[in-house]
Amino acid sequence: MLKSILAVLSIHRAGPSFARSVVLPVLFVAVATLSLGAASILWAVNKSNDVSAERQLRVMERSIRAVVQELAQEQEMVAIWDDAIVELGKSPMDLKWIDANIGVWLSRTFGQEEVYILNDRDEPINAVLDATRVSNHEFERVRASLSSLIAGIRGASDSPHKDHVAENAEAPYLITGKAVHDAHMLELLGRPAAVSIMKIIPESDAVPYPHDREFLLVGIRYLDGSFIKQISEQNLIEGLRFSVVNNPESGEISVPIRSDVGNLIGYFTWKPELPGDRLLKAIGPVTAVVAAIILLLLGALVRRLKQSMSALERTVLELKASEAQAHHLAFHDVLTGLPNRALFEDRLNHAVARRQDGEQVAVMMLDLDRFKHINDTLGHPAGDSLIREFSVRLSKVVGGEDTITRLGGDEFAIVQVCTAGMAEPDELCKKILAMVHEPYDIMGNQIFVGTSIGLVLAPDAGTDRSELLRKADIALYRAKAEGRNCYRTFTPEMDETVNMRRIIEEDLRIALATDEGLEVAYQPQIAVGGDFIVGVEALARWWHPTRGYIQPSQFIPVAEQTGLIVPLGEWILRQACLASRRWPGVFVSVNLSPVQFRSGDFASHVISVVRECGADPRRIELEVTESVLLDEECGTADALRVLRNAGFRIALDDFGTGYSSLGYLHRFEVDKIKIDRSFTQNLGQGTKAAAVIKAIVSLGHAMSLTVTAEGVETEIQKNFLHTAGCNEMQGYLFSKALSQEQITRLLFQASLKETQCYVGGTSAFKAG
Ligand code: C2E
Ligand code: CA
Ligand code: CA
Repeated sequence: MLKSILAVLSIHRAGPSFARSVVLPVLFVAVATLSLGAASILWAVNKSNDVSAERQLRVMERSIRAVVQELAQEQEMVAIWDDAIVELGKSPMDLKWIDANIGVWLSRTFGQEEVYILNDRDEPINAVLDATRVSNHEFERVRASLSSLIAGIRGASDSPHKDHVAENAEAPYLITGKAVHDAHMLELLGRPAAVSIMKIIPESDAVPYPHDREFLLVGIRYLDGSFIKQISEQNLIEGLRFSVVNNPESGEISVPIRSDVGNLIGYFTWKPELPGDRLLKAIGPVTAVVAAIILLLLGALVRRLKQSMSALERTVLELKASEAQAHHLAFHDVLTGLPNRALFEDRLNHAVARRQDGEQVAVMMLDLDRFKHINDTLGHPAGDSLIREFSVRLSKVVGGEDTITRLGGDEFAIVQVCTAGMAEPDELCKKILAMVHEPYDIMGNQIFVGTSIGLVLAPDAGTDRSELLRKADIALYRAKAEGRNCYRTFTPEMDETVNMRRIIEEDLRIALATDEGLEVAYQPQIAVGGDFIVGVEALARWWHPTRGYIQPSQFIPVAEQTGLIVPLGEWILRQACLASRRWPGVFVSVNLSPVQFRSGDFASHVISVVRECGADPRRIELEVTESVLLDEECGTADALRVLRNAGFRIALDDFGTGYSSLGYLHRFEVDKIKIDRSFTQNLGQGTKAAAVIKAIVSLGHAMSLTVTAEGVETEIQKNFLHTAGCNEMQGYLFSKALSQEQITRLLFQASLKETQCYVGGTSAFKAG
């Protein structure tokens, strides 16, 4: 039942909680209420049935009792009558009169089945059966049954009925009348009957009658005859019947009939009127319909509730989903879907905390080489595509238990739990470097990128998360500094470098602001063959207040990374310009960092600085490295052209170490190439340095460029370079970098001799 209701309401789809929390209680209350209602109705029905049956039972009993009394009263109407005495005394009797006034009349009027008139000898003188006069002989059928009653009324004091009446005052069907009549209930011819026997006496004294010789009037009324019909009609009792045995059918009740002496004669049985049942029949269907309507309404209500609950559940689910989404967003990178820094740091913490003995946790930091360039030239969508593709590839080589994160931009990090020492992270780094090499197809462009990786291992390098990340970052920095597209494992020495770098940055800032400790030294450049100074290279010098002399190779890279190279470079340019005004015969070379070119409109800025200082651009040489030329997007080519047009000479510094390609020399108009000092110093070391130098010289000459050799320390080197065809030389063989005063003195001495000055080997200035 419950199942079917649930099915109708399709509750099962709303989930067990809904059924449990709403449907069952509602159903319970509904069923309980309806059951209670039904029980009350049934109780009321039964009660009213019982009351009605009880009433009918009593009516029956009373009717049965009344019939005896009524019979007596009917008899009385004719038995106490002067005319009757007179008529019965005639001989012959007027039978017509007797029929019209006594026997037939009583039978017809009151339904007495049998009426007899007995004479003083108790012989019948008139007999009536069912309103018809019959032979007096008919009395003989009942004489035996009535004899004791007749004797009783004749005044026999030993009448058993009289005794019985006296003893059983409560006998229901016995009525004692006046002395002249007697009425009884008894079994007559096997039927229940009320019998009344009465002396016929005058009503007045006018008519004499013989005492002790009266006529007797006998009236019989059978209770199973017309009486039943009469009772039924009077009391609206249906189906009333008499039976000797008590055999009521279902729904029937019965009442016993006893004779005066208490013998059971039989039973009146009938189907009692059941008003409760009638009521039930009348209101039953209506009640059922009302109950059904209530149930339907409840069903509809539950359904509505279910819909609201479903909507609520949906809302809750949506909320949960958006919460999950929010949670995912909070811990994942939108672009790549990889864990973000917060989640990564959490995983790193866990990995380190749960590390088993002998296990190591590797932290790798990755950075795409030249990503900025791709982003700037192909646009951000291309950059995003590349990042996505890279993260996909990374996910393929990194194990499922390891965590990859995108820290931001093109920076990624990996946490790897290693059980086999360095072998695992080494192998992973190599795999990453190899997979990165495959070209990327980004928006129709084939792109090649590299990556640099910094690696650190816990617990060797510590267990603190931020410490590990910092050290991985340092290792990454080292990988980048050492040529990119490689991986470097963190060593404590790297940390010192980083510390040093931080100190340098802070103190260099102070030095620039206070103009204390910084100086410019000038290293002479000698014309080959003539051995005279043609120019000087301005080189930055820094005396730290506590650390003493700090090499340019230490502080220039820091200045480049921190942007301090811009003010520092300008300061050096100003110093060089001011100095050049004092040295009319020579040019002054100034080193320019690629970082300086990135500041807006660098060329015009250089030109205005030189003008301000009152220097001649034609005697200022600008040294740039090949990396400057690589920075195509900074408009370097244009800047160099503008500067060259303004009169500056452009020298390509450290030539041969970088990307050295003929293409660059064609694209960028330069005046000079400076062969890197590593080639000079490798001369005679069995390397190919000599061949390279020769090739560079002939290349430079072919393009009408001046070729300068750096780092010349020995006569042998000098002679080789001379023979190779170098135009100028620079190196400790001639001079270290000198102070402005020293250069001034040198140039002055040379002018005194009216020859160009050869400064071979003199070193009056401490240099790096
Ligand atoms: P560089 O531009 O190649 O400068 C030449 C470097 O070689 C100088 O080192 C110089 O002292 C050194 N040198 C000269 N002759 C010899 C030699 O015979 N043997 C050896 N071993 N070295 C020799 P320094 O002054 O330490 O400068 C190092 C680098 O620092 C420079 O290399 C340059 O790249 C950078 N630098 C120096 N001053 C400046 C500056 O004012 N601006 C910029 N942007 N960079 C500078
Ligand atoms: Ca230089
Ligand atoms: Ca150089």
